Amino acid sequence: MSFFSTYLQKLALISLKNSADVDHNRKQVVNITYLLAIVVSFISGLIFVWQGWFSESLVHWIGMCASLVGFTLSIKGHSRSARMLLPFAYALYVSFCTFLFYGSQSHFQWLLIVLAAYSVAGYRVSSGKEQVLLCCFALLVFAFNQLFAPISTQYSSKDFQLFVTLATFIVAMMFVVLIAGVVVNKLRKLNEHLRYQAEVDELTRVSNRRKVLAEAVNVFADAVMSNQRCCFAILDLDHFKQINDRYGHDVGDRVLQRCAQVMQNSIRRGDWLGRYGGEEFVLIMPNTRLREAYDIMESLRIQISDLNIFVEGQDQPIVVTTSIGVAEIKDDTLRYEQILARADAALYLAKDNGRNRVELDMSELE
Ligand code: GH3
Ligand code: MG
Ligand code: MG
Repeated sequence: MSFFSTYLQKLALISLKNSADVDHNRKQVVNITYLLAIVVSFISGLIFVWQGWFSESLVHWIGMCASLVGFTLSIKGHSRSARMLLPFAYALYVSFCTFLFYGSQSHFQWLLIVLAAYSVAGYRVSSGKEQVLLCCFALLVFAFNQLFAPISTQYSSKDFQLFVTLATFIVAMMFVVLIAGVVVNKLRKLNEHLRYQAEVDELTRVSNRRKVLAEAVNVFADAVMSNQRCCFAILDLDHFKQINDRYGHDVGDRVLQRCAQVMQNSIRRGDWLGRYGGEEFVLIMPNTRLREAYDIMESLRIQISDLNIFVEGQDQPIVVTTSIGVAEIKDDTLRYEQILARADAALYLAKDNGRNRVELDMSELE
């Protein structure tokens, strides 16, 4: 009973799990092919029983058992054996059915096309030799069936052959759709995964420098084109080196994460936050005037200084403060780097003026 429920759970997982792991997706393809083979042989077996051809239905039940064995091997982790068994079991099953029951005019042998799709999606791209071999194997078995199987048999009336042809077409189509679905999903997941790695800072989970500077270019261009204001702020944690020295690098990392979290939670829709490097962050605020940006930064500064970060083994919480420099786009600003440089100058001023404060780009106040 417990074996059965584990089996069902794994079955459910197969359809639900979609990962960026390429090996996982190849296994998924093998599993789907086996499942399809189980369903096809089961339904064929039932049809034969319904027709009263009990001993003939045995071939289908054997096919179903072989598929179940392959499927079990696959979900038990014997992926290679499962992958190798499938083409042979499949070819044997299709050939037996075509020769004994359906005849070549039923086109049941066209189900072998499934092996071509399987060879592409179920094997590593690098193992091109195996893929070619498998396609040649499918072609040979197909030709053998096409040339040597009887055109029709005692079991296959014209209507029954038509039914088998339609069923073959539907099954092959379903398989191609399923496999295409797995492959497209795999590519989508991989794409998301790569994009995440390229754009997100691993430690703080905010955008990394590359991403936020790319957004800076866009925001700056939009602001120039639409003649709108925009502000850039650079935030730098105060005396962060001392936190590392006193509590260790791991605690320093946690402090960085907490501060980034506060920043992320307090930015507005449309603002862009990114880790500029080390314990420095950059915040881009489109459609924002300098005074407004100052108020937002002041509130953020207070939130960070109010953070009490408790760490194991310490009675007192860690208190961390930030210095922030803010600059606004001006009529003569030609490149976004100029606003960043002015925000950086304002940040230096904040440090010089005692830290834990927000300073505006002085040239704005003139
Ligand atoms: P100031 O107030 O002048 O900014 O002083 P500071 O100590 O914050 O500045 P400083 O540039 O001297 O030191 C920055 C420190 O930040 C040094 C570096 O070890 C630490 N740091 C940078 N990146 C990380 C990180 O990812 N994790 C941890 N734990 N520390 C980091
Ligand atoms: Mg610092
Ligand atoms: Mg710094």
